[in-house]
Amino acid sequence: MAYNKIESYDEKITSGLVENYKHCLHLLGEDPEREGLQKTPERMAKAMQFLTQGYQQDARKILEGAKFTEAYSEMVIVKDIEIYSMCEHHMLPFFGKAHVAYIPNGYITGLSKLARVVDVFARRLQVQERLTHQILDAIQETLQPQGVGVVIEAQHLCMMMRGVQKQNSLTTTSAFSGQFEHGDTRAEFMKLISK
Ligand SMILES: [Zn+2]
Repeated sequence: MAYNKIESYDEKITSGLVENYKHCLHLLGEDPEREGLQKTPERMAKAMQFLTQGYQQDARKILEGAKFTEAYSEMVIVKDIEIYSMCEHHMLPFFGKAHVAYIPNGYITGLSKLARVVDVFARRLQVQERLTHQILDAIQETLQPQGVGVVIEAQHLCMMMRGVQKQNSLTTTSAFSGQFEHGDTRAEFMKLISK
Protein backbone atom coordinates (compact mmCIF):
# COMPACT_ATOMS: atom_id res chain seq x y z
CA MET A 1 0.00 0.00 0.00
CA ALA A 2 1.30 3.39 -1.02
CA TYR A 3 1.01 4.99 2.39
CA ASN A 4 3.38 2.41 3.85
CA LYS A 5 6.25 3.89 1.88
CA ILE A 6 7.90 7.28 1.84
CA GLU A 7 8.21 8.26 -1.80
CA SER A 8 11.20 10.51 -1.34
CA TYR A 9 13.25 11.43 1.67
CA ASP A 10 14.17 15.07 2.29
CA GLU A 11 17.93 15.28 1.58
CA LYS A 12 18.57 17.95 4.18
CA ILE A 13 16.77 16.11 6.96
CA THR A 14 18.40 12.79 6.04
CA SER A 15 21.95 14.19 5.98
CA GLY A 16 21.39 16.07 9.24
CA LEU A 17 20.16 12.90 10.93
CA VAL A 18 23.03 10.84 9.47
CA GLU A 19 25.61 13.20 11.01
CA ASN A 20 23.88 13.09 14.36
CA TYR A 21 23.42 9.32 14.42
CA LYS A 22 27.14 8.88 13.61
CA HIS A 23 27.90 11.03 16.62
CA CYS A 24 25.45 9.02 18.77
CA LEU A 25 27.10 5.72 17.75
CA HIS A 26 30.48 7.17 18.67
CA LEU A 27 29.19 8.41 22.05
CA LEU A 28 27.75 4.96 22.77
CA GLY A 29 31.21 3.43 22.35
CA GLU A 30 30.93 2.22 18.78
CA ASP A 31 33.06 2.88 15.74
CA PRO A 32 30.64 4.29 13.16
CA GLU A 33 33.20 3.58 10.41
CA ARG A 34 33.45 -0.16 10.96
CA GLU A 35 32.04 -2.23 8.13
CA GLY A 36 28.76 -3.32 9.67
CA LEU A 37 27.87 0.18 10.80
CA GLN A 38 28.83 2.23 7.75
CA LYS A 39 25.31 2.46 6.42
CA THR A 40 23.58 2.29 9.80
CA PRO A 41 23.18 6.06 10.31
CA GLU A 42 21.50 6.37 6.92
CA ARG A 43 19.23 3.41 7.63
CA MET A 44 18.33 4.92 11.01
CA ALA A 45 17.65 8.29 9.39
CA LYS A 46 15.23 6.73 6.92
CA ALA A 47 13.62 4.44 9.47
CA MET A 48 12.96 7.34 11.82
CA GLN A 49 11.46 9.47 9.05
CA PHE A 50 9.23 6.55 8.14
CA LEU A 51 8.17 5.99 11.75
CA THR A 52 7.32 9.67 12.24
CA GLN A 53 5.69 10.35 8.86
CA GLY A 54 2.38 10.92 10.64
CA TYR A 55 3.46 14.52 11.30
CA GLN A 56 3.09 15.18 7.56
CA GLN A 57 -0.32 13.50 7.29
CA ASP A 58 -3.78 14.81 8.04
CA ALA A 59 -6.25 12.29 9.47
CA ARG A 60 -9.21 14.60 9.01
CA LYS A 61 -8.42 15.01 5.31
CA ILE A 62 -8.26 11.22 4.90
CA LEU A 63 -11.70 10.83 6.49
CA GLU A 64 -13.22 13.80 4.62
CA GLY A 65 -11.96 12.28 1.37
CA ALA A 66 -13.94 9.10 1.97
CA LYS A 67 -17.09 10.39 3.65
CA PHE A 68 -20.31 9.02 2.17
CA THR A 69 -23.97 9.67 2.90
CA GLU A 70 -25.56 6.51 4.26
CA ALA A 71 -28.62 5.78 6.37
CA TYR A 72 -26.96 2.86 8.22
CA SER A 73 -27.07 3.56 11.92
CA GLU A 74 -25.80 0.42 13.64
CA MET A 75 -22.41 0.11 15.26
CA VAL A 76 -19.49 -0.21 12.82
CA ILE A 77 -16.45 -1.92 14.34
CA VAL A 78 -12.97 -2.47 12.98
CA LYS A 79 -11.10 -4.60 15.47
CA ASP A 80 -7.53 -5.86 15.75
CA ILE A 81 -5.93 -2.98 13.81
CA GLU A 82 -2.19 -3.47 14.27
CA ILE A 83 -0.44 -0.48 15.75
CA TYR A 84 3.25 0.31 15.89
CA SER A 85 4.21 3.53 17.61
CA MET A 86 7.04 4.98 19.67
CA CYS A 87 6.83 6.28 23.22
CA GLU A 88 7.85 9.89 23.47
CA HIS A 89 9.75 9.34 26.70
CA HIS A 90 12.29 6.78 25.50
CA MET A 91 11.72 6.68 21.73
CA LEU A 92 11.24 2.93 22.04
CA PRO A 93 8.43 1.10 20.29
CA PHE A 94 5.09 0.23 21.72
CA PHE A 95 2.86 -2.03 19.69
CA GLY A 96 -0.38 -3.92 19.84
CA LYS A 97 -3.94 -3.64 18.64
CA ALA A 98 -6.51 -0.92 18.26
CA HIS A 99 -10.24 -1.46 18.12
CA VAL A 100 -12.29 1.37 16.64
CA ALA A 101 -16.06 1.69 16.50
CA TYR A 102 -18.60 4.35 15.62
CA ILE A 103 -22.34 4.66 15.20
CA PRO A 104 -23.06 6.62 11.99
CA ASN A 105 -25.28 9.65 11.97
CA GLY A 106 -25.84 10.11 8.23
CA TYR A 107 -22.24 9.51 7.14
CA ILE A 108 -19.95 6.53 6.90
CA THR A 109 -16.34 6.19 5.80
CA GLY A 110 -14.27 3.46 4.15
CA LEU A 111 -13.25 0.84 6.69
CA SER A 112 -9.61 0.98 5.57
CA LYS A 113 -9.67 4.71 6.32
CA LEU A 114 -10.18 3.98 10.01
CA ALA A 115 -7.01 1.88 9.97
CA ARG A 116 -5.18 4.69 8.18
CA VAL A 117 -6.25 7.19 10.82
CA VAL A 118 -4.75 4.89 13.46
CA ASP A 119 -1.46 4.86 11.48
CA VAL A 120 -1.39 8.63 11.04
CA PHE A 121 -1.40 9.17 14.80
CA ALA A 122 0.70 6.09 15.65
CA ARG A 123 3.55 7.24 13.40
CA ARG A 124 4.56 10.03 15.71
CA LEU A 125 6.16 10.17 19.13
CA GLN A 126 3.29 9.27 21.38
CA VAL A 127 1.87 8.31 24.70
CA GLN A 128 -0.80 5.64 24.40
CA GLU A 129 -3.42 7.77 26.16
CA ARG A 130 -3.07 10.67 23.70
CA LEU A 131 -2.98 8.34 20.70
CA THR A 132 -6.33 6.88 21.84
CA HIS A 133 -7.94 10.32 22.15
CA GLN A 134 -6.53 11.68 18.88
CA ILE A 135 -8.08 8.79 16.96
CA LEU A 136 -11.42 9.38 18.66
CA ASP A 137 -11.38 13.16 18.08
CA ALA A 138 -10.54 12.87 14.37
CA ILE A 139 -13.46 10.49 13.76
CA GLN A 140 -15.86 12.44 15.97
CA GLU A 141 -15.06 15.79 14.33
CA THR A 142 -15.20 14.66 10.69
CA LEU A 143 -18.01 12.07 10.58
CA GLN A 144 -19.96 13.58 13.49
CA PRO A 145 -21.37 10.15 14.36
CA GLN A 146 -23.67 9.30 17.26
CA GLY A 147 -20.59 8.16 19.10
CA VAL A 148 -17.07 6.76 18.85
CA GLY A 149 -15.25 4.10 20.86
CA VAL A 150 -11.51 3.46 20.75
CA VAL A 151 -9.65 0.80 22.74
CA ILE A 152 -5.90 0.21 22.43
CA GLU A 153 -4.01 -2.70 23.98
CA ALA A 154 -0.25 -2.39 23.70
CA GLN A 155 3.07 -3.64 25.00
CA HIS A 156 5.77 -1.07 25.65
CA LEU A 157 9.39 -2.01 24.99
CA CYS A 158 10.55 0.70 27.38
CA MET A 159 8.90 -1.36 30.14
CA MET A 160 9.94 -4.74 28.77
CA MET A 161 13.60 -4.10 27.90
CA ARG A 162 14.56 -1.71 30.66
CA GLY A 163 13.30 -0.38 33.98
CA VAL A 164 10.81 -2.69 35.59
CA GLN A 165 11.21 -5.40 32.90
CA LYS A 166 7.64 -6.55 33.05
CA GLN A 167 7.67 -8.89 30.08
CA ASN A 168 4.02 -9.57 29.62
CA SER A 169 2.23 -6.50 30.84
CA LEU A 170 -0.39 -5.13 28.52
CA THR A 171 -1.48 -1.52 28.78
CA THR A 172 -5.11 -0.85 27.87
CA THR A 173 -6.45 2.61 27.14
CA SER A 174 -9.91 3.61 25.99
CA ALA A 175 -11.84 6.67 24.93
CA PHE A 176 -15.56 7.04 24.33
CA SER A 177 -17.91 9.71 23.06
CA GLY A 178 -21.66 10.10 22.51
CA GLN A 179 -23.61 6.83 22.64
CA PHE A 180 -20.50 4.98 23.83
CA GLU A 181 -20.67 6.93 27.06
CA HIS A 182 -23.78 4.90 27.89
CA GLY A 183 -23.19 1.61 29.66
CA ASP A 184 -25.12 -0.68 27.30
CA THR A 185 -23.54 0.57 24.04
CA ARG A 186 -20.10 0.50 25.59
CA ALA A 187 -20.72 -3.00 26.96
CA GLU A 188 -21.81 -4.23 23.52
CA PHE A 189 -18.62 -2.78 21.98
CA MET A 190 -16.40 -4.30 24.68
CA LYS A 191 -18.12 -7.66 24.23
CA LEU A 192 -17.64 -7.59 20.46
CA ILE A 193 -13.92 -6.83 20.68
CA SER A 194 -13.11 -9.40 23.37
CA LYS A 195 -12.32 -12.90 22.19
ZN1 LIG B 1 8.72 4.89 27.31
